[in-house]
Amino acid sequence: MAKQYDVVVAGGGSNSLSAAAYLAKAGMSVCVLEKNEVIGGGLVCRELTVPGFKHEPHATGLIIVMANPMIKNDELELKSRFGLRFFTPEKTIATVYDDETWMSTCVSLDKTCESIAKFSNRDAEAYRAFVTRVIKMAPLLSGAMFKPPVPYGQFAMMLDQSPLGQELLRGMMMSCSAILDELFENEKVKIHFMKWMGIFLLHPDERGTGLMFYSATAVAHTQEESGVYGGVQAFSDALGKCIEYHGGEIRTNTMVRKILVSGGKATGVELDTGEQILARKAVIGCIHPHLLGDMVAGLDPDMVDEARRCELSSHSGVMTHWALHEAPKYKCPEVNDALLVQPVPSKLADLKQIFDDVGNGLMPKRLASIVAHMTVHDPSRAPAGKHTLYFFSFAPKILRDGGWTPAARDRVQEWMMQEYSKYCTNMGPENIIAGMSESPADQNEWSPSFAGGDFMGIGMFQHQLLGRRPTPRLAQYAVPGADGLYLTGPFMHPGGAVTGGGRATAMKIMEDLGMDSSKHMAL
Ligand SMILES: Cc1cc2nc3c(=O)[nH]c(=O)nc-3n(C[C@H](O)[C@H](O)[C@H](O)COP(=O)(O)OP(=O)(O)OC[C@H]3O[C@@H](n4cnc5c(N)ncnc54)[C@H](O)[C@@H]3O)c2cc1C
Repeated sequence: MAKQYDVVVAGGGSNSLSAAAYLAKAGMSVCVLEKNEVIGGGLVCRELTVPGFKHEPHATGLIIVMANPMIKNDELELKSRFGLRFFTPEKTIATVYDDETWMSTCVSLDKTCESIAKFSNRDAEAYRAFVTRVIKMAPLLSGAMFKPPVPYGQFAMMLDQSPLGQELLRGMMMSCSAILDELFENEKVKIHFMKWMGIFLLHPDERGTGLMFYSATAVAHTQEESGVYGGVQAFSDALGKCIEYHGGEIRTNTMVRKILVSGGKATGVELDTGEQILARKAVIGCIHPHLLGDMVAGLDPDMVDEARRCELSSHSGVMTHWALHEAPKYKCPEVNDALLVQPVPSKLADLKQIFDDVGNGLMPKRLASIVAHMTVHDPSRAPAGKHTLYFFSFAPKILRDGGWTPAARDRVQEWMMQEYSKYCTNMGPENIIAGMSESPADQNEWSPSFAGGDFMGIGMFQHQLLGRRPTPRLAQYAVPGADGLYLTGPFMHPGGAVTGGGRATAMKIMEDLGMDSSKHMAL
């Protein structure tokens, strides 16, 4: 006899786990199925180099999820009951330039403006005025973020009703570069923000990327950007504990081959072993839009085709991890204790060239990186006195002329460390115990959500945001033609990064089942 639950969840990433946790807490029997040996997807922490050194292969610094009522209001008791703890250094994202200068965004707007003023008083004042306006827009942004999206046209119409909304709408249609050019005169100030926004994996000249600058700066000064004590696996494990506490089950090393559909209704899943697991009320799938037609038979071919045409981001990156004797010491020691550090060139043209190159399938000649040394804040992740280094640098999704072979990846890993050591005083071979790397292809191997190494799932282009993400027909998490099938993943609203977006999927399921979701989550 096939096992049966109220809800079966295919995929154990942070989005699926949060959806499952809300539904389990609301009294449903839930079973989560994860193909990897651990739950968490892109929110894991593992010994990747040598025993005793715990690395976060993917997500490390968390910000969007900190604004989600799941964390902010502790709706799932992850902090109060299941042991989740965060730390927030003062400098959240610092930039080190190749001419040994630096600047930093801090949670404090005053401190950020002080940092900008080292380069330009005028830019510091422009930023203060911009953020003061943007913070007033924050309810418009965060109000839309953690529940099912309103249709795109309706959202635009709502924004169009007030001057602040109209400004945001304008920003949504502009490129990040154009907004930075409008606001700032100093090129290093522009570089700091442009590099940061590049983490959304689009070229900053792309129209529509202006929204990232609005939402990132709104969140940066109203929310703490944080690391997780013990590593981000503790976050996924807290979600897992919450599910199990409320009677749910989790199975790892369990690959879902397809979603079962009968008479237009999703009835469960089939594993690659042939075993079937049945669902009475809902099936949740972390199914990339490109794979929807392969995983679910009998859907409208136009809808499947539209999903298959979802556009991936412009670039990706190579991730490297290092076990170190000492934490990196920068030539600008002021950034040694930042949560995240961006080593970059000091010329805007060089940074733009990096975006051009990676978008064209070429390895850039310079680093545009994001680095974290979490053991500075959380020594529990390494043997006493030792350190870890998380070091990601932009790279093409598919490397031209040969692709991401292990040899190509290893060459890039070596080059990255050579370049990085120029920003530091102690990153020679004597400080390195071991290193490893993951190419975009390896990231995709770990999770099918990261198609071609696109960890946004699909590009955060305007045509794939809000009520158009991934497509207008699929944006409400439900899959037309397979009643009871719902989607989670970075390719769904609110998008890539750790967001706790599964909360919105759970909200939609509760509403479809006639339950009062406000009993389980603030609206
Ligand atoms: C290199 C890198 C760095 C990143 N850095 C950050 C960061 O610092 N901060 C941040 O907020 N975000 C970061 N991200 C993004 C973040 O990791 C993702 O946006 C997030 O993990 C998406 O969560 P998810 O649950 O939607 O999907 P995923 O994390 O991709 O989880 C999906 C899970 O479902 C499983 N699965 C899928 N299909 C099946 C199936 N058929 N059967 C069984 N299991 C299945 C997968 O194995 C996976 O475990 C980074 C990502 C990468 C790759």
